[in-house]
Amino acid sequence: MQKGSINVQSENIFPIIKKFLYSDTEIFLRELVSNAVDASQKLMTLSSAGEVKQEVVNLKVEVILDKKKKTLTIRDHGIGMTQDEVNKYINEVAFSGAEEFLEQYKDKDPKSIIGHFGLGFYSSFMVSSKVQIKTLSFKEGSKAVQWESNGDPTYELKEIKKKSRGTDIVLHIDKDSKEFLEENRISGILNKYCKFLPIDIEFGTKQESIDDPKGKKDKDGNVEKVSVEVPNIINNTHPAWIKKPVDLKPEDYKSFYSELYPFTEEPLFHIHLNVDYPFNLTGILYFPKLKNQIELQKNKIQLYSNQVFITDSVENIVPEFLTLLHGVIDSPDIPLNVSRSYLQSDSNVRKISNHITKKVADKLSGMFKKDRKDFEKKWDDINVFIQYGILTDEKFNEKAKAFSMLKNAKNEYFTIEEYKEKVKAAQTDKNEKLVFLYSHDKDEHHSLIESAYSKGYDVLIMDGPLSSHYISKAEQDFGVSFARVDADTIDKIIAKEEDIPSKLTKEQEELLKPIFEDISEKEKYTVQIESLSETEKPVLITQSEFMRRMKEQQAAGGGGMNMMGVMPEMYNLVINTNHPLISKIIDSKGKKQKKLAKQSLDLALLSHGMLKGKDLTEFVERSFDLI
Ligand code: ADP
Repeated sequence: MQKGSINVQSENIFPIIKKFLYSDTEIFLRELVSNAVDASQKLMTLSSAGEVKQEVVNLKVEVILDKKKKTLTIRDHGIGMTQDEVNKYINEVAFSGAEEFLEQYKDKDPKSIIGHFGLGFYSSFMVSSKVQIKTLSFKEGSKAVQWESNGDPTYELKEIKKKSRGTDIVLHIDKDSKEFLEENRISGILNKYCKFLPIDIEFGTKQESIDDPKGKKDKDGNVEKVSVEVPNIINNTHPAWIKKPVDLKPEDYKSFYSELYPFTEEPLFHIHLNVDYPFNLTGILYFPKLKNQIELQKNKIQLYSNQVFITDSVENIVPEFLTLLHGVIDSPDIPLNVSRSYLQSDSNVRKISNHITKKVADKLSGMFKKDRKDFEKKWDDINVFIQYGILTDEKFNEKAKAFSMLKNAKNEYFTIEEYKEKVKAAQTDKNEKLVFLYSHDKDEHHSLIESAYSKGYDVLIMDGPLSSHYISKAEQDFGVSFARVDADTIDKIIAKEEDIPSKLTKEQEELLKPIFEDISEKEKYTVQIESLSETEKPVLITQSEFMRRMKEQQAAGGGGMNMMGVMPEMYNLVINTNHPLISKIIDSKGKKQKKLAKQSLDLALLSHGMLKGKDLTEFVERSFDLI
């Protein structure tokens, strides 16, 4: 028997493991099961190279819970270790840069210790009062050995009798970690981290119904079923992302999606990633149907390293807008156990992230070119995603110019360039600038949209959660200006035509202003007298594009704006001097005049959905009166 002290280059790693990894103790199982899978895969590789004399069949990893003995065992039938190898791999804990690391560990994400410094196996001490390794190497003539330690950090190493090749890691679960003696807890962890490992992982048994071997048939001739106990394999060893795209049908992609996210709506489409140079990356990204609750749908991508689940918080690994996608990324080249801030500056991570952005842009552009009608059908579901990308990722923005769409109130779709062409003739203002009219709500602006179309203008629908940000970005990128249909009277927005002469005299116009000021709230409305076309409404309500955007940005918590206090709602009350009703108001006197003015103001408010409460009740009564 050999006794010794585990050779760590610094004093003692165990207190650190216990202290700093406490919040994430469950990953010990991931580490041990992955080691077992590695050992099994190594054996397969050696076997196919003709270096293994024994038969290599039915390799599986077993996770065995023994509540009585309070042990959890991870058993594999892989390469095993000789005594020398135990000394080398377990006793001489080889963790590069440990000293330097210990200097810095206080500032780091605790997760950064394990794995990165080759401490996978040692994470078992987070939950165990004693750990045993019982192992027999595949090498001819090897003797089985047992290593044992309670993590203080001394160990004992001795020969034992063990017939079968491979390794048992026996954890004597600590009294503080009783949860890991619960079946549900263990199957929960296995499901999270081991669901797609490449070797069968067996945990207990389950009932399965099979044809009765005695062959009894019921009256319809069907063989009766009996329930039998079968090994419970918890993983799918061949997940879709490791297969070749040519071997997968659309249904396969869909069923893999529901394997990842049971009970969710079908995705719109997917991208199969497969890179082997200059880095390794496989995966399938899905475009979900994005609704307006972006936050809820974020961060669903699962990150794997060689089919071992690592995390589902991929911020900093993929560009922010891509966190809206769902699916799986698998790369052994992402440094998985280091802190997040380090990830951002890692050059592999940057390359991977650029690659994914490019793939996503290429996919979208391919879909646009191949079947534009179909792309337009999907637009309402993907536009949030694309606008997010345009706003946050300049490289994506460049590429998106080719396929980013604008939708108008008639449900027609245009690229920016197409739209510029379409509205050039009617919507170029005096300064030769193109003006894009838009509405955030088709119903609310129904009459304004109608009126714009009747004048030969076009109106875009910008109703997404990112629309207002997108508008500012598009104005910068394309040198156009956007104006909401209620930003001013439509002809003034476009500012194309010469002024229309007024039917009223200067004196009459002077009289008009106080009539309307009298019946409207001074703080909220500014009365403006304008000579618009006869067919335009007598009273219009507008809100300056600038003021409205300031307010919207303030509501969204825009920088610095709060110094100005809460901005009040302010509107313009535009009185059209050329409308016959306005002449009639001027010509009437006293009570009648006031009634007519009030009625026309209320109608304007009504058409904007702004007439409420007492004013609305009075309006209804007055209307009956007038009829
Ligand atoms: P890492 O897996 O990151 O190398 P570990 O501390 O988990 O670090 O393991 C150290 C080494 O011990 C492994 O590289 C491997 O050589 C050996 N080892 C661990 N578990 C097993 C196992 N189940 N079978 C064979 N060898 C193992």
